[in-house]
Amino acid sequence: MATKGSISVNTENIFPIIKKFLYSDHEIFLRELVSNATDACKKLKALSSMGEVKGEIGELTITVALDEKKKTLTISDNGIGMTEAEIEKYINQLAFSGAEEFVEKYKDKADTDIIGHFGLGFYSAFMVADKVEIQTLSHQEDAIPAHWTCDGSTSFSIKKGKRKERGTDIILHISEDSNEFAAKARINNLLDKYCKFLPIPIYFDEKNINETKPLWLQSPTKITDEEYTEFYSKLYPMAEPPLFWIHLNVDYPFNLTGILYFPKIKDAIEAEKHKVQLYSNQVYVTDSVKDILPEFLTLLHGVIDSPDIPLNVSRSSLQSDGAVKKITSHITKKVADKLASIFKNQREEFESKWEYMDVFVKYGMLSDEKFAEKANGFCLVKDEEGKLSVLGEFIEQLKTNQTDKDGDTILLYANHKDIQYSQIQAAKEMGYKVAIFDGVLDSHIHNYIEQKFEKTKCKRIDAAPIDKLVDKGETIETTLSEDDVKKLTTVFEKAVKDQTEYKISTEALSPSTPLVSVTEDEFMRRMREMSRTGGQAMFGNLPTEYKLVVNSNHKKGKAILEAKGKAQSKVIQKAINLALLSAGLLIGEKLHAFLQEEQKNL
Ligand code: ADP
Repeated sequence: MATKGSISVNTENIFPIIKKFLYSDHEIFLRELVSNATDACKKLKALSSMGEVKGEIGELTITVALDEKKKTLTISDNGIGMTEAEIEKYINQLAFSGAEEFVEKYKDKADTDIIGHFGLGFYSAFMVADKVEIQTLSHQEDAIPAHWTCDGSTSFSIKKGKRKERGTDIILHISEDSNEFAAKARINNLLDKYCKFLPIPIYFDEKNINETKPLWLQSPTKITDEEYTEFYSKLYPMAEPPLFWIHLNVDYPFNLTGILYFPKIKDAIEAEKHKVQLYSNQVYVTDSVKDILPEFLTLLHGVIDSPDIPLNVSRSSLQSDGAVKKITSHITKKVADKLASIFKNQREEFESKWEYMDVFVKYGMLSDEKFAEKANGFCLVKDEEGKLSVLGEFIEQLKTNQTDKDGDTILLYANHKDIQYSQIQAAKEMGYKVAIFDGVLDSHIHNYIEQKFEKTKCKRIDAAPIDKLVDKGETIETTLSEDDVKKLTTVFEKAVKDQTEYKISTEALSPSTPLVSVTEDEFMRRMREMSRTGGQAMFGNLPTEYKLVVNSNHKKGKAILEAKGKAQSKVIQKAINLALLSAGLLIGEKLHAFLQEEQKNL
């Protein structure tokens, strides 16, 4: 005799609502159903180990079968199965009470952002099927097989079923508008995405598709480097091999396992191609972990598996969730400790890979105080000769020769070792060390350094003429009369008037300093850079503030004043061009004109 019943939900038809709102991604129905099958097998195993199921339970497996013609997709397991009473309880009542709660909560909201479920996993089948059947036989002795059918309306039927062996088949009759799920390639893809690491062997058309004991659940002491890199390429088939990895294994105060890899990254765009994958009990959940990991950690790759990350709450509440906060700070600490230990024990290797870690470490330092505290011990700076030193030690080295009249240590830096080559050479001749800051985050690092290191100022090597970069307070006598200095300024001003918008300033510098230097004030330049990266939108697009500093003590000064007309302007023009050239600013039309002129003079 068939039992007929009506689903106890007040809302007339919940299925359209489930379809629309339950999960924005319809494809996750397969994850839900295979997870249920996995649970059914695990439950049976547990019962058997407690002695509650007699005899051998045999090998537990899950089979996914697609009939492309009939458009049915069947998920079968040989787990605990259900009796008719259990279907009544778990499928008809419990799930629907979840559904009712869901409908109540979300019926008025058009675009709710729900990742989790309300014990509605099974019902996600109706997102893609217009009819769902359950054929099941409970593990209990003398159980009678049951057959449940529901066509997506609010009524269902249960009658005696056909299943002869313990376990459950969930049969989906794929609906017209979900035809994409009646294709083998699509199902294969979904199984690979969501079920690749589930603990029970899964077969799709006789082919095994999963690894039941993924690497992150194995003991780190037994895993070889090759296995770690091999696993990485399984996760990201096209990626370059990783630099290092961290095996995470926490069981208190929350549960978390995983492997985080440091990829070879030179910029954030590259890093974002591959993402950390989040699993819950080996079920793939998402690779959008932005709300769970601090942003700088999302530059890492790998897997995090934690049943303690609440998946059934909206994203915005995740960030304030206590468990998530703890997980975040734990991972941050682990990552910092790992880097510190590699730095300590394998410094050479650490240094050889620094260029790929630079962005990550600096991003971490800028965004996380605790990480920064540790990273101060291994954040490296490259000097003009390519030598790497720890930031703090580098600054310490500067104190003898690069302390100015106010007692500030001046950290000189270049942002392009080739374009600024000649300026770097000039600094070297002064006995200065120059840090090369050419990374994408380096314009932010200067403020950081000035805040964290007492009495330290960062100055780009073109922030002032070379002998004023570290102003030790020594005055340089001027060799020209005051009147001549004025004249010199005037002739230079005249010469640049129609050529460039740069301002002229005349200063008494050491005689060996070039006649003209191009400089831009450090503070103004940083403001401009920040306005460009969007930090200070209120300033709009600030223009460059280059200055042409004329050295009134240069030996040519006098000669220029004595020369007249063309001869005079030629020298001036050349001096300016050389200065622009050495600053990498002589480009385009002006470079072309300069080159043509020089060709003529050959
Ligand atoms: P949840 O899995 O979140 O509890 P579901 O709606 O997915 O919610 O499933 C409801 C219940 O139905 C499960 O808790 C389980 O008791 C039962 N069930 C679902 N699928 C199976 C299956 N393949 N074998 C045995 N029981 C199942």
